Amino acid sequence: MYSTLIGNYTKETNFFHTTNPFELLEKYSSPLYVYNEDIFRSKLRQIKNLVKYKNFIPHYSVKANTNIHLLKIVKEEGLHVDTMSPGEIFMALAAGFDPSELFYIPNNATIEDLNYAIERGVLISVDSVSQLQLYAKLNPNSNVAVRFNPGVGAGHHDKVVTAGKKTKFGVNMDEFETVKKIIAENNLNLVGINQHIGSLFMDNNAFIESTTNLLDFAKSFASLEFIDLGGGFGIPYHKQSGEKPLDLVDLGIKLDEMFNQFNAEYGREICFQIEPGRFISCEAGIILGTVTGLKQNAHTTYLGCDIGFNVLARPIMYDSYHDIEIYTQRDQPDLIKYPMNVVGNICESGDIIAKDRELPHCHYGDIIAIMDAGAYGFAMSSSYNQRPRTAEILITSSGDEKVIRRRETFENLIENML
Ligand SMILES: *Cc1c(COP(=O)(O)O)cnc(C)c1O
Repeated sequence: MYSTLIGNYTKETNFFHTTNPFELLEKYSSPLYVYNEDIFRSKLRQIKNLVKYKNFIPHYSVKANTNIHLLKIVKEEGLHVDTMSPGEIFMALAAGFDPSELFYIPNNATIEDLNYAIERGVLISVDSVSQLQLYAKLNPNSNVAVRFNPGVGAGHHDKVVTAGKKTKFGVNMDEFETVKKIIAENNLNLVGINQHIGSLFMDNNAFIESTTNLLDFAKSFASLEFIDLGGGFGIPYHKQSGEKPLDLVDLGIKLDEMFNQFNAEYGREICFQIEPGRFISCEAGIILGTVTGLKQNAHTTYLGCDIGFNVLARPIMYDSYHDIEIYTQRDQPDLIKYPMNVVGNICESGDIIAKDRELPHCHYGDIIAIMDAGAYGFAMSSSYNQRPRTAEILITSSGDEKVIRRRETFENLIENML
């Protein structure tokens, strides 16, 4: 048995079913990514049911988490997928998606990248006028989509705002005459336009505003089959302090109105798409790690553990916040909390998972769990400091645990060095 010293997310969601964090680390060793199938499926369904509008195809943006077992669940739930690279196309096809269910939205693609998608019949959305020219040369007389910058961005950090004036993404709307000309000259068929304003909006306004701009702009193209509104749907990373989830009901009602109105003005019904990544996988995943001990330096307490930025890069990349839970098997744990910095085992002072976090005093062997790690967690992990990448475990809906990725070995670290 064990007790939870802080946090209630895993308890409230019955995250571990009949197993528990101590059993999991005992069996699969530490640190460990653990996912919950019920939560993952429920997020997929929330997105699928976002609007009442019938001709709506949500895509899961696979870069958030590309484990093939999760991709197969996405396929079962009937969503399509968004890909950013040939490797992601490869993974989606390996998971059983049909090329017609893939959308490829590359940035700064090479000829090899574009050809990889073209040869497999995957629709491409180009990201600049020069990429459109390149695409036209490689694949004239074909269907194509264009990513436009709707002029409004949003996101939790400058690094992930992907529209507006300070970004490398998208074709500016004022270049649309050039786009039309290239399309006509090469007998291309512009079947879709898309946007992606940035990652992690918690307030629907920026998304609605950019969508309004994009829909307005879309009317200048006659041939559209779909409009893709992008991803970026946020999740509440501060659940322990009461942060509320995105208001999907409100968003759905507004989108339904906008879709119907657009069709009325456009003169025919088209397909609408969205492409969330984080919203779908984030809350379905956590990381379990081992507390290695506490240390005092000047006025700061450091809680050491084996979750470095090789395992979770988001805090060091974006200063991002993750809720933390702590589990113990000790009989009489100390419950008094005080501020500490939670740090990993990587040889860099920046290796900090959480700053000034109020946590209870813990000991070697207690378990630390990082919440909301199912998106941009494993996908951004590395073997820096020659720490093999972790295993991934799925707690299935029937309560079983399934190893969905083996832990890397030292042999894996060396095998490609000929
Ligand atoms: C990253 C990305 C997404 C998904 O972003 P989330 O914040 O995970 O929803 C969607 N579309 C494009 C083009 C992206 O680059």
